[in-house]
Amino acid sequence: MPHRFAAIPAALSDAMPFVGPDTLERLRGRPFRARIGANESGFGPSPSVIDAIRRKIPEAWRYGDENGHALREAIAEANGAQVENVVLGEGIDGLLGLTCRLFLNPGDAAATLTGAYPTFNYHVEGYGGRIAARPYRAFAPDLDALFGAARESGAKLVYLANPDNPTGAVIPGAEVAARLDDLPEGALFLHDEAYAEFDPAAALPVAADDPRVIRFRTFSKAYGMAGLRVGYALAAPDVAAGFNRIRNHFGVGNIAQAAALAALRDQGWLAEVVRRAGEAKARIAAIARASGLDPQPSSTNFVAIDCGDAARSTALVAALEARDVFIRRPGAAPLGRLVRVSASSAGDLDVFEAELPQALTA
Ligand SMILES: *Cc1c(COP(=O)(O)O)cnc(C)c1O
Repeated sequence: MPHRFAAIPAALSDAMPFVGPDTLERLRGRPFRARIGANESGFGPSPSVIDAIRRKIPEAWRYGDENGHALREAIAEANGAQVENVVLGEGIDGLLGLTCRLFLNPGDAAATLTGAYPTFNYHVEGYGGRIAARPYRAFAPDLDALFGAARESGAKLVYLANPDNPTGAVIPGAEVAARLDDLPEGALFLHDEAYAEFDPAAALPVAADDPRVIRFRTFSKAYGMAGLRVGYALAAPDVAAGFNRIRNHFGVGNIAQAAALAALRDQGWLAEVVRRAGEAKARIAAIARASGLDPQPSSTNFVAIDCGDAARSTALVAALEARDVFIRRPGAAPLGRLVRVSASSAGDLDVFEAELPQALTA
């Protein structure tokens, strides 16, 4: 029994809320032929990133720069910000946890949409916060619902992934920015930009110094470095400095820092990945339509496909898994009718194309 745990974790479950493809492979006793469910970039990192990693391996004995200074400078330059605006962390997931720890007292509310990216809720609950959520409107995030939940609960944090996971939809950044004055007094707006590279429309036209907002970016998706765990937040300098009170100072290793620096310097690769992802999304949509399913528009590196009802999407994920194809589906209504398929290599999509019709009849 967890009788020695502190009060907040004592009330939480031991069950891992996120079951990844590696665990599924172990449980199944065989590998997937197409791993297209976690929005990893099947196109991989840039060759120059692989090279930078190779060159850094002999220095694996060293701790990385705890200030990540060179990388933060490059990030600041790429974003028209100052180094004081940049917080490094172990991916957006790690930074969301720190954000909850930095701003939430036990019992404080945090607003999101029902079925939005779940790691935010995980951290809110992990620090004793309280989720205030309202549903999506059809298959798109609903700003009225989000700001309504925020106002009603007096939320201290208001979270939006834009472009959105799991729907792939985007809200133009200008539309989001126009709502920031509707935040409850003292609330912070968290703009999760994990897929920003795939659609410039999501860019939030606010200064890095804007005290109302923290923006989150990652090297996991378009840059193809999910396994290295590097992300960053852009925030007003006093907010950014606050993270130094609680962050894991050596949390981003020297190999990961060198890789991220090389990734930023290879914008040609980024453009190529965005182009390939666009082709892959068009192909996924065509494959879905050929089977009578309804693919949704996507500003990300995946396509959400409407299967008509939740029973059918649930059965489809299971039938594809039985055919060694890993995809995912969101749980909460009205999103439960969707399955989510990641843009990936032609080989992965060949497998998807071959297996989808059979999985649907199974
Ligand atoms: C994938 C994803 C993340 C996770 O990013 P990491 O930097 O790998 O932790 C965060 N937010 C959204 C919306 C995502 O889809």
